[in-house]
Formats: sequence, structure tokens, C-alpha cells
Amino acid sequence: MTEQRGTAGEAYEVLAVRYGTRQTTAAEVFLGYAGYGEPDRPLGMDYYFWVARNQARTIVIDTGFSPAGGAARGRTTLYPLPAALAAAGLTADEVGQVVVTHAHYDHVGGLPAFGAAEVLMTAPEYEFWTGPMGGRGLFAHVTEADEIDHLRSLRAAGRLTLTGRSHAVAPGIEMTEVGGHTPGQAIVTVATERGTVLLASDAAHYYEELDRDRPFSTVTDVPGMYAAYDVIRSLAADPSVTVVAGHDPLVAERFPAVADGVWLLSG
Ligand SMILES: [Zn+2]
Repeated sequence: MTEQRGTAGEAYEVLAVRYGTRQTTAAEVFLGYAGYGEPDRPLGMDYYFWVARNQARTIVIDTGFSPAGGAARGRTTLYPLPAALAAAGLTADEVGQVVVTHAHYDHVGGLPAFGAAEVLMTAPEYEFWTGPMGGRGLFAHVTEADEIDHLRSLRAAGRLTLTGRSHAVAPGIEMTEVGGHTPGQAIVTVATERGTVLLASDAAHYYEELDRDRPFSTVTDVPGMYAAYDVIRSLAADPSVTVVAGHDPLVAERFPAVADGVWLLSG
């Protein structure tokens, strides 16, 4: 086994759990799609959260949308959170840390279930959504007010750690702020026995964003989103790094299924 960057010898099993889905179109998904001069086409959007675990610890990356947050937007729930966790072979109580890549409704909605966990997110992400600009219409519609309040209450209770640009979550697991999609959007890298799994989350919803350099339609900073693609691509130039897009149905094709709704990313 080769020693991976910053692992201190620890390797994890990494899972993607698909808990929701919807049908959309390329024109809805890609910013300024008409400018590409291509016909519109149907596109699925899947909703995942991720699990990294080994003998020493279990860490969840994002938590999915709440039943109310999903229903309000017409999303299809495939597995409510307890069932989705059970499919991955765990319960919320076993989770010691939850990494929140950003504060959109489909990433923080399940946080209240993880009553024992330390929660980590980047400081710019927290500050934006709890500040005055996060409540403005274009931004606020991708969040739920009570879920932003929950982040505030976690912070007040000393359970929310705000991180800098790069932060070691645990040996072998690192979160890195890339911005673009949201002001403090993070990606997460996880050391495995077969190299590094790079969880792009919404820094790259679809592989097509990276492959064709096409920004996603929901974005706070377009140059920042392009720059985030550059960061992901430069990390992925190392052949031992596997990129996992945040909402792409291709994840279910590129990785082996190990249970209903669960794909092994580290295998
Ligand atoms: Zn998302």
C-alpha cells in the first residue's frame, strides 16, 4: 500500500448514499445553456450524502434534505434519512463528525438527526448564510430559514467548528474551501486503500461541468466556480485521485452498488 497525502496511515471505506432524485433538463442545470447552441435535453439529478468510515471513526459528509425541504421543491425522496443510513449500515448515533460542504437545503436538512456529532463547515459559508446577504431572495430560496437557525444553535452550543481554507477533519480526511457555488463551498478528500476519493459535492454537481467547463446554474460567484473546477482538475491530475460529482446519476454507473441506494467509492 502506498502512503497517501496526509493520511498518517489511515484509510477509509467511502460510500455514496442516494436518498433522492428528480428529473430536470440541461437548460435548467447549466448556466447560460442557450449560449452553447445545443438542443435542450432531459437530465436526471440525484441527491446523495457520503460516508467515510474505518475502525476508528465514522464521518458523514452532508445530510440530505429534510422531508419538508424536499417536498417544498417537489423532490422525490427515495430513502428518508434513517433508512438511508441503515442502507449504509449505520445509525446517526455512531457518527462522530458531520462535514457540511455548504448550507443549501439538500445538504443540511438532516443535521438535527446527528445529535452526538461535531459539525464542521467553512467560516465564510457560515458567515454568509447567517448574515444579511444570505436572506436575500435569490440566495434564500435554496435554504430553509429554520435550518440556518439550526446552524446558529449548533454554533451557540459549541458543536459547530468553523474551518479555514483547508482543514484536517481527521487523519486522512481533509476539507478544502473552494467557493463558487456558495461563498464557502468545500470539497472533501478521503484517503482510501486505493488512493484518494475527492468528494466534489456541489463544487461539481455533474462530471460535465468539469469535462466541458460548464458552470452550474445556481452560483454565487461564476469566476469562483471556474476556479473551483481548476482546483478539482489539478488534484485529479494525480491518477490515484477519483473525483465524485455531487448530484450526477453517472455516480451510480461508475461505481459498484453495494446495497440498495449505496455505492462504494473506495473500491
Ligand atoms: Zn446540492
